[in-house]
Amino acid sequence: MRAGLSTVATGGVELPAIEVERVPHAAEPRSQASKLTTADGEAIDPREVNAKLEGLGAAEAIAWALETFHPRLRFAASFQKTSSVTVDIVSKLTAESGASPANFFYLDTDVLFDETYMTRDALAARYGIEFQRFSGISLQEQADLYGDSLWARQPDACCGIRKVEPMRTALTGIDCWVSGIRREDSQTRAGAAKFGWDKRFGLWKLNPLADWTESEVWDYINEHEIPYNPLHDAGFPSIGCTHCTRPPGADGDARSGRWADAHKTECGLHG
Ligand code: SF4
Repeated sequence: MRAGLSTVATGGVELPAIEVERVPHAAEPRSQASKLTTADGEAIDPREVNAKLEGLGAAEAIAWALETFHPRLRFAASFQKTSSVTVDIVSKLTAESGASPANFFYLDTDVLFDETYMTRDALAARYGIEFQRFSGISLQEQADLYGDSLWARQPDACCGIRKVEPMRTALTGIDCWVSGIRREDSQTRAGAAKFGWDKRFGLWKLNPLADWTESEVWDYINEHEIPYNPLHDAGFPSIGCTHCTRPPGADGDARSGRWADAHKTECGLHG
């Protein structure tokens, strides 16, 4: 049994209890990241940084993050449309500056769509990126511990195991991570700041596309002819795992097709 998991009796059968919230709300900073300074050691006020970044475009915000944190900076890739934009911007910035390649990673839940893996491979080939893979326990191990189809019975627990736990590993030892969330995605993301302290994981977080509209994303992808996930053309504005993603209903937001049968809107990565 994995550390931190106890057992409970369920219907006469002993099953491991699932610790749904496995990430402490006030995680301790793992590095010097909690003190944001310039290369000369001058303190920077994150609120001032956020205010400054609000007035800048995504490329400028990412350039600032690269200058400030690289290589202790990682870019999350979901291989949805925003990943295509971020990969293009970052690749051009590092090529122009002569900096070492940026660090991209993804969380492989083992139940991603084939099209998502195809998009990963297409972006890797076009930009010469090696996307670092992070994953949790195998599907078989999960079924052995918790029974079949945990995603249907306890999606928070499944996301905790297959996404949040690997994310903790992915974010260990760095100072800042970059996500592709946008305020337009959903009501829960409407107030997303461009930059701030991520209490859940204990490091800085940049959302450079926070203020991008749907049409701005597509204009950028089309203008630069960037590979993108073909599921977007099949009616999926938001793409996650196969078991928990469907096209949204007529009156739902872009993410309403995610966990459509459950009272759940986030996987636990964006607190
Ligand atoms: S999205 Fe669904 S299948 Fe994927 S980790 Fe979460 S609950 Fe499990």
